[in-house]
Amino acid sequence: MKKILVVACDNIRDKHCIACLKCFKALARREGEFARYKDEEVQVVGWTTCGGCPGMVIPRVLLTKELSELYGNEFDVIHLGTCMVKATSICNCSINLEELKQKLENLFGKEVVIGTHNY
Ligand code: SF4
Ligand code: SF4
Repeated sequence: MKKILVVACDNIRDKHCIACLKCFKALARREGEFARYKDEEVQVVGWTTCGGCPGMVIPRVLLTKELSELYGNEFDVIHLGTCMVKATSICNCSINLEELKQKLENLFGKEVVIGTHNY
């Protein structure tokens, strides 16, 4: 069982990418970056956002981790949504996703995957 936290771009989630339908579809079908779980059960522990500012991602993940521990339902892996990939690759978002992945892994000891769906 893999327990997943998804972090989305606050400016894209539910504004351009409505209701996160694409990621839920990809997860159900084990497509895109979710293909790695094709032989595994998954549980979505949480679905949060960057907080709308590059400096907010790490504090928000910290808070999410602390609350998930408080509620007795910790996540194993963090997916940085395809929305964040698009924001950084084509929309001038200043987050360096490779650096963010390294920081999150080092700070929180969680696996971090860049990307989610590939539609
Ligand atoms: S890429 Fe996924 S997490 Fe990001 S807004 Fe779209 S559906 Fe939601
Ligand atoms: S553009 Fe970057 S900092 Fe702004 S909301 Fe999206 S991911 Fe977050």
